[in-house]
Amino acid sequence: MQLTDTHCHLYWNKFDEDREVVIQRAIEAGIKRMLVPGTNLETCKQSIELAEKYEQVYAAVGIHPTDVETSSMQDMDKLYKLADHAKVAAIGEIGLDYYWVKEPEKQKAQRGVLHSMVQMAEALNKPVIIHLRESGDATQGPIFDDFFAMMEEQIEKWQLAEHPLGKQPGVLHSFNGNLTLAIKALELGFYLGVTGPVTYPKNEKHRQMIKELPLERVLIETDSPFLSPAPHRGKRNEPAYVLHIADKIAEIHSKSPAEIAAITTANADRLFAWGD
Ligand SMILES: [Zn+2]
Repeated sequence: MQLTDTHCHLYWNKFDEDREVVIQRAIEAGIKRMLVPGTNLETCKQSIELAEKYEQVYAAVGIHPTDVETSSMQDMDKLYKLADHAKVAAIGEIGLDYYWVKEPEKQKAQRGVLHSMVQMAEALNKPVIIHLRESGDATQGPIFDDFFAMMEEQIEKWQLAEHPLGKQPGVLHSFNGNLTLAIKALELGFYLGVTGPVTYPKNEKHRQMIKELPLERVLIETDSPFLSPAPHRGKRNEPAYVLHIADKIAEIHSKSPAEIAAITTANADRLFAWGD
């Protein structure tokens, strides 16, 4: 079985003691590729270092919405240079977060940085990895509205210019929106990332949304070290556990885990191209 974890923060200090072991365990579990998104200049550099060290590891560079405040314009220029690296497969993690950031001024700054990062994706022709978190973890709201308004206009421009991002702009990481928003994202060409919460007993509505998704647009991601799937909930997450997410989607879609692994790996190959 060949799996891909398209979202793991392997540079995080929770892996400092045993990073090498964690990566080897993932490779032994059949994880073919791991995509590590940075969240600011420093962690983007660390992602690229890991990508240079391990054949199976790829990096993404971007400024996470909760890191906007501590990032500068100079950081953005430096990021641009980093993003041109052959093993940088995407621009991310970027997006909007009104869960942690409540002040309107700071939310506005997030939208500005997101816009700049999307322009960077266009210039380098690399897909985006998008984080969207509404206040109170709502499944709809102002973030989704702002984001889709911005991207609708952008994607239309890309389509008119026949830019490749007009067909597949990127992935909505750990997507937790409702089915209406999922359909909208699919219409815009986005892939949807599924993470550990799909395994949590109370998330029946989320599973119902996932049941309706076309599998050829689903990616599986751990978001390590966060969002551990059952049966590891409450402990540190790691890329090898992406298998539990594949298992749960297999159950929801009445497929075998091997089929889900093959489909989602093919999806990741199609979206990220891995430097080809
Ligand atoms: Zn993340």
